[in-house]
Amino acid sequence: MADNHRQPEVNIGLVGHVDHGKTTLVRALSGEWTDQHSEEMKRGISIRLGYADATLRRCPDCDEPECYTVAEQCPEHGTETEILRTVSFVDAPGHETLMATMLSGASLMDGAVLVVSANEPVPQPQTEEHLMALDIIGIDNIVIAQNKVDLVDADEARENYEQIKEFVEGTVAEDAPIVPVSAEQEINVDLVIDALEREIPTPDRDPDADPRMYVARSFDINRPGTTWDGLLGGVLGGSLVQGELDVDDEIELRPGREVDEGGQTEWRSVSTDVRSLQAGGESVDTVSPGGLLGVGTGLDPSLTKGDALAGQVAGPPGSLPPTWDSFEMDVELLERLVGAEEGDEIEDISTGEPLMLTVGTATTVGSVTSARDGECEVALKRPVCAPAGAKIAINRRVGARWRLIGVGTLTE
Ligand code: GDP
Ligand code: MG
Repeated sequence: MADNHRQPEVNIGLVGHVDHGKTTLVRALSGEWTDQHSEEMKRGISIRLGYADATLRRCPDCDEPECYTVAEQCPEHGTETEILRTVSFVDAPGHETLMATMLSGASLMDGAVLVVSANEPVPQPQTEEHLMALDIIGIDNIVIAQNKVDLVDADEARENYEQIKEFVEGTVAEDAPIVPVSAEQEINVDLVIDALEREIPTPDRDPDADPRMYVARSFDINRPGTTWDGLLGGVLGGSLVQGELDVDDEIELRPGREVDEGGQTEWRSVSTDVRSLQAGGESVDTVSPGGLLGVGTGLDPSLTKGDALAGQVAGPPGSLPPTWDSFEMDVELLERLVGAEEGDEIEDISTGEPLMLTVGTATTVGSVTSARDGECEVALKRPVCAPAGAKIAINRRVGARWRLIGVGTLTE
């Protein structure tokens, strides 16, 4: 079984319009998930993060691309298949349509599968919005899954393919392969694996760098009514973007928590130690970047409850980037609102307006304190921890919702 539970080495996002088949495709690629260890911790993390690991394999006796599979035994030859690598799919929960969630997940993605339904006109609103987000964040390792091909005839499939081609022209997905697939009928899953292997390589990582984790979720995994002596510490879910993290390591979290002292509130980092690590569906002593992980800590679980620490950054004490209450950023605005008709141009950012900013896995609201051509200064409602140079997705309220209007680069 050890082979079957290797630690994932790369994170692949599933993006695209609701109901186009993201979750079904993940299921087709990851099969069944079984795990003996820490059932509760695993369940909590996988459900809330919507992630699934898959070990991609090839049969040594089959030709390409039929050789690509997730089965341990080749259905054709009965041969034991060879492991290529284990990947982690990041799939937003079905009810989640907020761009902020997609954007904060995007900071953990090394590449993405854009799922497009073959039986609907292209693009549907979130197809366009998500592609724009990939473009802005600079995720250019993309595979397009033209899904539900079982529902269309050959002519319709071809026409839909042309629409996709035209739609991605001039974007980061311009050269992405378009793989016709039926996630539900498991047709062409081998072609998807082939494309993932080619287009979304495992990034080079520096194993000597200080570990740094982007926290995407946090939980209290204790059942209600657990007495204090049975209480487990708070759990963090997220991904390491650099370095290696070990059990017993000391970690600091920034921005940490808000403390009230004599009527004054300020944010102070919190420190704890790593009590347990979960990666690739098992308990491990050490983790490296790639894949989503669960970190059991010594934190009071009330601190981690309900995603309270989502958006924070963890690493060895003293190694983390600064915490910002306000910052300046260089701004590049989109030409028009995503999904908008001709003429819906984006006006310059003005002093006093509220913006929703996504920095790493953190989402915060800021008020613009000064705005000039191509740059602005914002005061944040909730501080963020980020290095200078960090990319920021900028959203403005338009009508009833936040809309992506551009990208910022944190300057100071
Ligand atoms: P998501 O919102 O993008 O995650 O979409 P889901 O994976 O939940 O799929 C939405 C619906 O489409 C479900 O009823 C699936 O069973 C169905 N579906 C997904 N993939 C296919 C496919 O390849 N063919 C057909 N016919 N239905 C599919
Ligand atoms: Mg889904």
